[in-house]
Amino acid sequence: MRKLVKRAALSLLKSAGLFRAFENSRWRRGGVAILCYHGISLADEHEWDPSLYMSPEDFERRLEILKKRRYSVLPLGEAIERIRARDLPPKSVAITFDDGAYDFYCRAWPLLRAYGFPATVYLTTYYSEYNRPVFNTAASYLLWKARGRVLDGAKLGLRKSLDLRTAPSRQSAWLWLLAEAEANGMDAAQKDELLQALAAAAGVDYSVLLRKRLLHIMTPAEVSELAAAGCDIQLHTHRHRTPLDRGLFVREIRDNRERIEAATGAPAIHFCYPCGFYRPEFLPWLNTAGVVSATTCEPALARASSNRLLLPRFVDHANLSPVEFEAGISGFTLALRR
Ligand SMILES: [Zn+2]
Repeated sequence: MRKLVKRAALSLLKSAGLFRAFENSRWRRGGVAILCYHGISLADEHEWDPSLYMSPEDFERRLEILKKRRYSVLPLGEAIERIRARDLPPKSVAITFDDGAYDFYCRAWPLLRAYGFPATVYLTTYYSEYNRPVFNTAASYLLWKARGRVLDGAKLGLRKSLDLRTAPSRQSAWLWLLAEAEANGMDAAQKDELLQALAAAAGVDYSVLLRKRLLHIMTPAEVSELAAAGCDIQLHTHRHRTPLDRGLFVREIRDNRERIEAATGAPAIHFCYPCGFYRPEFLPWLNTAGVVSATTCEPALARASSNRLLLPRFVDHANLSPVEFEAGISGFTLALRR
């Protein structure tokens, strides 16, 4: 209900010309809306997690809005340089995708090309090499597939059963499962075996999931192909984690960068914090590692006054209606949140 009232109010404000006033304001001109996406569905992923996945149709509608309303979609590196030079064109936007899922390769990139929009992928590389479903997200997806049931722990080789009867119990079961995998020091192959067992219990054909490459990261060859076609590939750590130990943190950047640069032949100097998590001590570590910019998930426009290692982004997702998206990119809702 609140959501409907909010959308109706935004539609009214839009027809009153408020978004137009915002998008053409001097304030908006001084900033870039850096858009953040995760995945574009190959199948039903947006029904499982609309905060991570969007249908190709909804994503195309976003691109249509950017085109129709004449937004200036800039490559991320250029946007960052022009923020500093205070030389941004009107209505600046940059498009970023986190993780580098296979669905970016076959769903998002063809659409972006059709609209002539540049994009940056923040690629995590561990599951690019070990090309199997990403454990954390695939586990969540499979538990969703078995929603409403209780899965027998004994059959899964687990210490307890998984209660998936409600959304909160499913969330707890998922977190417990991740903690179990961690506590038992499971390696990637063992985690993959657990996924196979979960799929069998959920009635999902794991071989189909593998064939469709659901919840997979792009292979190094796919990354090379995209880079050659003009897609920008940047840093997101090798194992999708930001250790609090300096040495381990720097190793994450180094391992990630080596693989990206080998695949793209281009420098990887822009970074995105996995899960948007950051701490003040990361900033000097990133600086020493030669990282030029880093993005968070704090909702705001990136401006000359922003710390270049803490650039905010507008996280777009399937639960946002087109009018809410327009309110965001115009600067209106981002200004309200200040
Ligand atoms: Zn990520």
